Amino acid sequence: MKKIGLIALVGVFLMSCKTESIRLDEVRKSIGVEETKNILFTLASDNMKGRDSKHGGYAKAAAFAADYFQKNNIQPFYPAYRDSLMTDSLWSYNIVGSLGKYDPNKKTVLIGAHLDHIGIKTQEGDSIFNGANDNATGSTAVLQIARFLSQKKWKQNVVVALFADEEKGLKGAYHLAERMKNEQVDMTYMINFEMLGITLTTGKNQVYMTGYNLSDMPDKMNAISPNFVQFLPQAKEYNLFRRSDNYAFYEAFGVPAQTLSTFDFKNYAHYHKAGDEAEKMDVDNMNIVIGTAAYTIAKLLDGEVEIKMKEKEE
Ligand SMILES: [Zn+2]
Repeated sequence: MKKIGLIALVGVFLMSCKTESIRLDEVRKSIGVEETKNILFTLASDNMKGRDSKHGGYAKAAAFAADYFQKNNIQPFYPAYRDSLMTDSLWSYNIVGSLGKYDPNKKTVLIGAHLDHIGIKTQEGDSIFNGANDNATGSTAVLQIARFLSQKKWKQNVVVALFADEEKGLKGAYHLAERMKNEQVDMTYMINFEMLGITLTTGKNQVYMTGYNLSDMPDKMNAISPNFVQFLPQAKEYNLFRRSDNYAFYEAFGVPAQTLSTFDFKNYAHYHKAGDEAEKMDVDNMNIVIGTAAYTIAKLLDGEVEIKMKEKEE
């Protein structure tokens, strides 16, 4: 009797493991604040020279990202992870990885953030534009989320990308979007991360989404993580949907491609200034946001949740 009871118990346990394969506490444990802080402070250090190609900082940041992908078993989507492009007579490259082996017959989900910033400017005092919030924070999110998601197998292709030359007009993203389109990648949706280092005015553990009414992505995410994704009136007012890398993928594929952010134009005075530094970031909230995003994306992937376009309104 005892033995049968034990077997039954093990059976119930195994069944519950199968249905509860992604748990928020597991995500929180995997995405720790120390690692988030380490990545953020590395990417936003003076050593990275503001991460533009002219002063050589972008190459350093890209090498760090490629190394991080390699260490965490993320496969190169292109040789050496590089999708190369030339902007203003300077070579640059997106860093692109795949979680597991890419299968051209499967649907693809893309997760990305721009890694570049505006470099060094001749001015009095601090001349290095570290771009901590913009966008070392979004890049940190993509690296952490990629590492977490790479520990599991997914039914779709999951491609992770860090874009070059966003600050020069979304150049890296346009290059990759066009290339993936030509390669007939079956893109289903794209999630982009921008400026996550300051707590959103509406509360902790929240982000807003650009192009909120364009697709049901906010609804689908909030069904998994209630109140996580907010509507920000300024996002519509300033046309933010068209102002980050997500837009290149929306244009190329016509699928939901949207940005998650916490910068609302009131909560941070150092946007595109030399004072945009890692010390000013709310790393605890940022880490919680990254964890919630990772959990939400994992549930979307696991449930093969479809995300659809709604209206032609941003
Ligand atoms: Zn940015």
